[in-house]
Formats: sequence, structure tokens, C-alpha cells
Amino acid sequence: MELLGSLGEVRWTMSAEEAVELARTPSYELIVSDIQLPGLSGIDLVRMVKAARPELATLILSAAASFDSAVAALRAGADDYMAKPVDPMALVAKARELMALTRERRAQDRQVILAVGAHPDDVEIGVGGILLRHVAEGHEVTILTLSGGEQGGQAAERADESARAAELIGARLIHADLVDTSVSDGGETIGTIKRVIDEIHPSTVYTHTARDVHQDHRNCHSATLVAARGIPRIYCYQAPSTTVEFHPTRFVAIDGFLERKLEAIAAFGSQTAVRAYLDPELMCATARYWARFTQARYVEPLEVVRESDVTSGAAAAAATTEVMAGGG
Ligand SMILES: [Zn+2]
Repeated sequence: MELLGSLGEVRWTMSAEEAVELARTPSYELIVSDIQLPGLSGIDLVRMVKAARPELATLILSAAASFDSAVAALRAGADDYMAKPVDPMALVAKARELMALTRERRAQDRQVILAVGAHPDDVEIGVGGILLRHVAEGHEVTILTLSGGEQGGQAAERADESARAAELIGARLIHADLVDTSVSDGGETIGTIKRVIDEIHPSTVYTHTARDVHQDHRNCHSATLVAARGIPRIYCYQAPSTTVEFHPTRFVAIDGFLERKLEAIAAFGSQTAVRAYLDPELMCATARYWARFTQARYVEPLEVVRESDVTSGAAAAAATTEVMAGGG
């Protein structure tokens, strides 16, 4: 087993729970697990890893050359299976192969994400969990905040808070200086968004829903749609001022990312004390509410403006696994 050391950094954990936590670190390229573990099983582990990090390869080892456990592992989404006793050289060779598979999926799946918001904290409230999930999947995430939010407090302080929140999310922050409460849907706003789009070439853009009582949010929505007209995927998120007409059709699970989202929102300290909509209980309850449309526990809802080019490398890999499981 020391041979595994030749593959790079190897971490040993005693439980599936701990392994899932580690799997959130984008640098890992393979999970090797026994089927039998204290607590959750290796099969549970594979399922959780596939949900959190679909591109991360998994290899299951089992004590018995059991056809049933091999099928169960592959059905859960494991990339490969070896029966014990395992030849160390064969294990290292298999590990190398699977690590290369993870790297290949990441390269195919490389996504550039842009989230546009009118004020500090809009993006974090609307898609904070989704952005954390993108970062965990190795995607490049940029937050564009159009104004300093000076009507809601000191612009400089709010800028520091935004920087801290972006850091917690793992995103790059671009803070433009349009005038708070006067963000237009015209040339200046469109130009500001377009310059960022031309620089980073996003594959996915998130912006405000148009169903919102705040004019800056509605104008941000309209301007983004014009600036992002060539972008394959555009989704709209809700803000605290979104109306009951908000009509999401896409529900993204943020299980495992909610706590970090709350930390990012807590970074807006100048607001959390005075703004009831930043109450962590409300954040949790909202995410829990929208999960009723899914199997997840916590969800962020999105309206879909455009969703093309959805056949990613990960989707193709998942389809292959389905075929194998079906064959068993
Ligand atoms: Zn706002």
C-alpha cells in the first residue's frame, strides 16, 4: 500500500463522512474505499461523492469477489471495482488510470461562471450555494457587483464586506461603480457587464429575476440579458425583494454548501444587524422550502432564460455508468 505514495499526496480517513468532507477539496483526484466501513458503507460514500463531485473518480475494494457487491458499487456510480486480495502494483496502475480520468473530466467540464448582482449581497443571497458548488467542482467563478450599495451603508465598508464574502465563496469579485438605486437598463450597465463577459467568456450567467420590486434588480436583469446574448446558459435568481410571480423551473441542490453560504452572508456585517432578510433562519427556511420540488434537503431556485449545450463530459460519464448498471 506504500506504493500509493508514488501517486502524490495520499490521505487516509477512518469514515465515509470524513472522506466526503475531503472530497470537497478540488485537488483530490481519486477516492479508494472498502465496501465495508464503520458507519456509512463504501456504496453510500460513492453515492455522496457522485452527488457532490460528479467528476471525481471512485474505486471500490471488496473482500469477496462478489458479483452482487461489484454491481452495487457500479450502480452507485463507482468508476471501478477490485476484489481483494489486491495486487499492489495492479492497484497503483488502476489508481493512475482513474486519476487521469478525473483530470480528463475536469478539462472537458471546465466551466466559467459569472453571477451579476446590482448590490453587495444580492448574488450571495440568490446563488451563494450554487456558486460554492461550482467552485467545489473546479469551475472558475466571478461575481460582478454593479454598485457599491451606498444607499444601504458606507460604500467602502460594503466593498470590504463583498471582498470577504467572495473570498469565502472562492470567487473573483469585480466591483463596478454604477450608482446605487440608479442602475439603468441602458448602455452604461450593458457596457459594464459586456466588458466582463468579453474578458472571461462565461459558459453560464446568473442574474436577477425580472419579477422584483427593486428597479435596480429589474434593470440589472434586462441589461444582463442584452450583454449575455451569446452565452449558452442564463438563469435568474431571487432576491429578498422578488415578488410572488417568481417562477423557478430549475432547483439546484446546495446540501453541504448552506453553512458556507451563511458564513459568506455573515460577512456583510454592516447589514446583517439591520436587515431582517439576512437572518440565517430565513435563509435556511427558504432553501428548505424550495427543496420540496426535489430529493435534496436544501435548494436554490432558478428561472431558466436559456439552457443549451447541456451534454457535458460529466453527463456523458453518468450515462455510461447507467448503461453498465443496467447491464448488470
Ligand atoms: Zn439588491
